[in-house]
Amino acid sequence: MNKKTISDIDVSGKKVLVRVDFNVPLSSKDPNATITVTDDTRIEAALPTLNHLLEREAALILCSHLGRPKSAADRQYAMDPVARRLGEILGRLVTKLDEVVGQSVTTAVQAMKPGDMIVLENTRFHPGETKNDPELSRQLSALADVYVNDAFGSAHRAHATTEGVARAIQAKGGPAVAGFLMEKELAALSVAVDAPPHPYVAIMGGAKISDKIQLIEHLAQVADKILIGGGMANTFLKAKGHEVGQSLVEEEALPEARRLLDTAGDKLVLPVDVVVAASTDDASPCQNVPVGQIPAGEKALDIGLVTIQHFHNALQGARLVVWNGPMGVFEVTRFASGTNALAMLLAGLADQGTQVIVGGGDSAAAVAQAGLAGRMTHVSTGGGATLEFLEGQTLPGIAVLDDK
Ligand code: ADP
Ligand code: MG
Repeated sequence: MNKKTISDIDVSGKKVLVRVDFNVPLSSKDPNATITVTDDTRIEAALPTLNHLLEREAALILCSHLGRPKSAADRQYAMDPVARRLGEILGRLVTKLDEVVGQSVTTAVQAMKPGDMIVLENTRFHPGETKNDPELSRQLSALADVYVNDAFGSAHRAHATTEGVARAIQAKGGPAVAGFLMEKELAALSVAVDAPPHPYVAIMGGAKISDKIQLIEHLAQVADKILIGGGMANTFLKAKGHEVGQSLVEEEALPEARRLLDTAGDKLVLPVDVVVAASTDDASPCQNVPVGQIPAGEKALDIGLVTIQHFHNALQGARLVVWNGPMGVFEVTRFASGTNALAMLLAGLADQGTQVIVGGGDSAAAVAQAGLAGRMTHVSTGGGATLEFLEGQTLPGIAVLDDK
């Protein structure tokens, strides 16, 4: 990686502004309820960086967005539960402030001593965050000597805390570097972008093609095969002339699907059978049918058994596998078999030395639910950022960091 990290700079005794990804799930959306963090994976993921800085007696000012608040009035997205959980995990005092910038923040930061930790309010409570407002960036940069970005999942956004503040710190001569989580993501994902080992097999699934069309286009150039499952497979099946009943289909993506079948058809591996049902609820029976026999009133909700076998065959000998998007409605046990079978297959391949990269929020959740995350080479913490990085795009939050 050609970007500097916290290992490359002196942070001892410095005030360090760290952009973390503490966009964690919460127990309630009711502002009057006692809200707690229900999954602290993202907090845990930041610990190597935080511990490195704390061991060097830095004073840490942490910032993150949380959820999608419309304004600071959406109190259910305040950072208090996150700061509380972080304090419990670290066993240290963590002070949560009620503003992103402003007099209260300036005063609190001035009083900080080495090893102190402050969590700023949800950065999206400030209207300047998503606008990448230079004034907000300047105020943030005034708080710290050093800027560290450890929020890979937000690096595709040029926001004040992901991009603007890095420039503002650099403008006053300070370093802007990557944290360890960011470094780990870049190292793992770069394999698929810079010089992917072949055979390179990509697996795409999930709900919609339209979210991922650019990635599929890119993969059609660089991968040797693309296995397609999940909801998006239905649009390809329809484009091939199959009746898909009530399955999720994106009519507007049909021309694109036809074009991909024409130009990259030899690389695409589509389902040959699917699991269908009238609906996802328990009362409605499901069955495994060939793709030519999807009943008019039913929908395809998972890949079928023969398809799993085909995918297994297509994966043999792969040196690199990139997987994004569940193979079916994995949230419902009856339609999770395809996703779980694939996760098992990939865990086995990874054990034998294939590099297996899993990206996407739901895909990561599916692999975790199957208990197999630890066996993959890398499970990315990003959603949109991971997709854009794999497309070969330059992410603004990374591009801005100091080069080695
Ligand atoms: P990721 O977050 O990993 O990028 P997506 O968000 O694109 O994945 O897709 C995940 C969603 O796709 C899940 O909610 C899952 O239920 C849905 N999905 C998968 N297969 C189907 C299908 N055949 N029909 C409808 N929805 C599906
Ligand atoms: Mg998703």
